[in-house]
Amino acid sequence: MLLRGILATAALLSFALLSAHLLSPATGTVDDVDSDSFSSFMFSVAPFSLGNPAAAAALTLYPPATPQESLTAADPFRYRHPIRAKSGDTLTGLLVGAGVGRSDAVAAADALREIFDPRRIRPGHEVSLMFERAVGDDSPGDFLGFTMAPDFAREVEVARTENGGFTAIEIEKALTRGPARAAGIIDNSLFVDGERAGVPIPVLLEMIRAFSWDVDFQRDILPGDAFEVMWQRTWDDAGQPVHEGFVLYAKLTLSGSPHAIYRFETANGDIGYFDQKGQGARKALLRTPIDGARLSSRFGKRTHPILGYTKVHKGVDFAAPPGTPIYAAGDGRIEKAGRNGAYGNYIRIRHHSDYSTAYAHLSRFAKIARVGSRVRQGQVIGYVGTTGRSTGPHLHYEILRAGVHTNPLSVKMPAGEKLAGKQLERFMAVRKDVDRTFAELVDGKAIATAD
Ligand SMILES: [Zn+2]
Repeated sequence: MLLRGILATAALLSFALLSAHLLSPATGTVDDVDSDSFSSFMFSVAPFSLGNPAAAAALTLYPPATPQESLTAADPFRYRHPIRAKSGDTLTGLLVGAGVGRSDAVAAADALREIFDPRRIRPGHEVSLMFERAVGDDSPGDFLGFTMAPDFAREVEVARTENGGFTAIEIEKALTRGPARAAGIIDNSLFVDGERAGVPIPVLLEMIRAFSWDVDFQRDILPGDAFEVMWQRTWDDAGQPVHEGFVLYAKLTLSGSPHAIYRFETANGDIGYFDQKGQGARKALLRTPIDGARLSSRFGKRTHPILGYTKVHKGVDFAAPPGTPIYAAGDGRIEKAGRNGAYGNYIRIRHHSDYSTAYAHLSRFAKIARVGSRVRQGQVIGYVGTTGRSTGPHLHYEILRAGVHTNPLSVKMPAGEKLAGKQLERFMAVRKDVDRTFAELVDGKAIATAD
């Protein structure tokens, strides 16, 4: 293995020990470092001195080409230490945890504040620290600064100044934005074949959610069905996609019948998806208030898996891994949230009109799930579990109409918004434009327009 080969090099041993120390302070051996974080540590090559060619030229990325010759105790070397923010982390805490002195950490965070508020650091943000140290020194070394990307459009470098303080420089990236398209035939699932056709996962998820009102992804999609999608994409100046935006248009052709949706902003600023005639895709209730689940039991008579005798199943079951988020099926108010006998942890939402929905066997509740709270459609209310009388992790979902249990998979959902008058005219113009753009684009390529 390449990595082991490198590690065996005597000249690098102190470096390996150092990185083991940095990555997992409790242990002293390289074998305890998982190879993923180790290799990203070693081979991370994002430019440290952005917009500062002189500093960039002076920078030696580790490991150097000929380590045996160039590494002597007299030569300090620079190295990068990327760390990823976790929930609850502060920038100062992250820096101190990586071996930066407290006063330096505070000063560096202060310098960043001029461009980006360090309190806005979120889990997953990567901060790439730069140190300089002498061979044989077992401390992390002198802290030189760090880089981070507050978002896909910007990069910030905080670097030590001559007087020992820190200064921040913002580099705005040159970006272009435009539509990208993909299309294909479904042989496995929209997810698998969509990804194969180059549709990014967040785009697929948005597409699935937009269609989830009308399409039962469990039953309605058959091999040979087709999809088309166009979404907003952002590229950097090297032509690499750096951000995937919203779905502009999508079409599923199911058993020969086309279902198209178009993104449209209504006069009151709401953004939604509408079919070719301007009928809102969104319905008042979701049939499937969970992503990525498998329908494991239908509504109606069945032999109960635990009780053994035939019993009417008053809802549908979706098998999903424990902890999978559960969405409120529609806007409404929480009517019940707590233990409820065989249902285990249970939530019931009262919606406008005469519908309510119920969710059972949850592992835990989201904060919003308190009696009396207002919830919006799609808001996470709890997580899949197996509490109450249940054989394994799943969501038991019920729709009640005027207090009567109905089959969530076949009940006719209350319709969504229908565009009319001036709005419909404006929508038809948007639709025409989108159709024309989609036809002009070639799969995988895009006409980038200046931002
Ligand atoms: Zn059930």
